Amino acid sequence: MKHLACPCCKSSDLEDVFTIPNAPIQSVVTIKSHEEAMQVPRNDIVLTFCNHCGFIFNSTFDTNWDFYTKGYEDQQGFSPTFVKFITSVTERFIEKYNMRDKHIVEIGCGKGDFTRLISSLGHNKGIGIDPAWVPGRGDDNPDVRFIKEFYSKEHGDIQSDCIVCRHTLEHIHDTDGFIETIRSSCKDNNPILFFEVPSIVRILKIQAFWDIFGEHCNYFSPGSLARLFRRNRFEVLDMYLEYDDQYLFIEAKPVDTLSNKIHPLEESVEELKAMAYSFVERINAQLTEWRERLNRFKEQKQKVVIWGGGSKSVGFLTQFDDLDVIEHVVDINPHLLGNYIPGIGKQYVGPDFLETYLPDVVIVMNSIYIDEIQANLSARGLHPHVLAL
Ligand SMILES: [Zn+2]
Repeated sequence: MKHLACPCCKSSDLEDVFTIPNAPIQSVVTIKSHEEAMQVPRNDIVLTFCNHCGFIFNSTFDTNWDFYTKGYEDQQGFSPTFVKFITSVTERFIEKYNMRDKHIVEIGCGKGDFTRLISSLGHNKGIGIDPAWVPGRGDDNPDVRFIKEFYSKEHGDIQSDCIVCRHTLEHIHDTDGFIETIRSSCKDNNPILFFEVPSIVRILKIQAFWDIFGEHCNYFSPGSLARLFRRNRFEVLDMYLEYDDQYLFIEAKPVDTLSNKIHPLEESVEELKAMAYSFVERINAQLTEWRERLNRFKEQKQKVVIWGGGSKSVGFLTQFDDLDVIEHVVDINPHLLGNYIPGIGKQYVGPDFLETYLPDVVIVMNSIYIDEIQANLSARGLHPHVLAL
């Protein structure tokens, strides 16, 4: 099914800019057998640009598919690099808005790591809402509770001084309806919104095709994200990029009339469109370069593994799995081990496996982890050629 209106502004002035053919529609679901992994449906990802608000989205996204209630596995807290990053961002946020002894609601809390973090760092009371939450994945804290449901109007009466939503909005097709639901929950209380999404700007600038995958229907830029918030009567307080410019943060508050405050990070619709077409011009060269590199490894009979499971590895392998070069995908999340990669069929292995496999080449799916991964390999006496996306 093709979506013919922009999910953010409802405009039908749209144009398709780039297609990834035949991509698995899921990438972080846990799957116990090769057969089941290969049965994950595939669909084209069609990146479509809205000429009115600059929003980029997958216009063939299947809104009927159940992505999150069958073992969705995306916990990042097993990496010390990530924990250090998220702790410093959270401390800064708490300081900025004096978010202490307050009520925090987190929409799309996953396994609850962040709800626990902001609650303990600021001595706050936290409620996490997520259909993919599972018990027993973190310390018990009497100030924190979880609701295993999709967020909806029904949760609008929960008292909050802060509404957090991290890496969730990019999964929600009805972006405007979702932000509107949150706005209608802001009655007498004036919560600070604290949202985080991947930034499409970085994807476009470095042609990060591995960051375009089935679960993400939305690809926000600072401009398109701010415009969505403003049209739903929020004022943008701040925006910034973090984690090698991969993650885009927005802080906002409800206002009675439409805000016209533009943040310096925002780009115009025209600027983003130029970036999108520059991406289209350069992406094929990037794909060809990787294909040639992987073919060289194959000719040299090199043992090649990917380090970093989940979406990026599926996004990467979707392009190159036909080459049959990469034999294994390593991840440090113990809940992924033994599972099979959706649409790709390879089984996740832990770092221990490499001590007997002895890889010649390790391709790191996120360059921010390269030092952590190098150290892990060295500690095992392994010194493969390490390269990063
Ligand atoms: Zn639009």
